[in-house]
Amino acid sequence: MGEVIEIGDLAIDVTRKDVKNVHLSVHPPDGRVTLVAPTSTRIDVARAYAITRIGWIRQQQEQFRSQAREAPRAFVGRETHYLWGRHHLLRVTALDAKPEVRLDHRTIHLQVRPGTTRDGRAKVIHSWHLKLLHSAVPAIIEKWECHIGVKVRRYFLQRMTTKWGSCNSKAGTIRLNTELVKKPRDLLEYVIVHEMVHILEPAHSPRFFALLSEYYPSWREARRELNELPVPQLTEK
Ligand SMILES: [Zn+2]
Repeated sequence: MGEVIEIGDLAIDVTRKDVKNVHLSVHPPDGRVTLVAPTSTRIDVARAYAITRIGWIRQQQEQFRSQAREAPRAFVGRETHYLWGRHHLLRVTALDAKPEVRLDHRTIHLQVRPGTTRDGRAKVIHSWHLKLLHSAVPAIIEKWECHIGVKVRRYFLQRMTTKWGSCNSKAGTIRLNTELVKKPRDLLEYVIVHEMVHILEPAHSPRFFALLSEYYPSWREARRELNELPVPQLTEK
């Protein structure tokens, strides 16, 4: 119980059972990977097996991802875009001035220079997402530093394709997926709490889930909701 095999950015949850063979599964919709191993199998043996199946794992994950993927965005007017879990209408205006984004009720006003490409428009929106996250994340971290009694030395925002967050417990740093700006705010908070608990307990061990249940009792619902909502649109720049 509680063992995790890490291969690059892939984390495989290991369960011990009274079975004869190692069994690997990739689960929809988020492509979570689990491995059931006989009680006596050494973890490095299970890991070596998982490595031989890595191509298959990636292929399965990509399949689930493409099924759940949002329609690619062109960043043109009348398109809907998620922000903090709600749909907003995009309006694009061309003006020979510094690009900017303004939020007005349920409309995102994107102002770009004439002739800006799709990637250029996406970039302006992405910078705005970073700004929004930077204005939301520190207060949440501060609040939970008191509750959990850990210190986050630094947080990073990064576009990630396979996870919502990660933690370097030794360095005391956490990494958050920039796609979280599209999810309801309480899910951002859940991911932050999850990663902060990892500073106390790096593995997904029983202790980890006991701590998580103490600080964030509704973590199961939060995790389910994160997995159900559209996964990040991967080709978006
Ligand atoms: Zn975790």
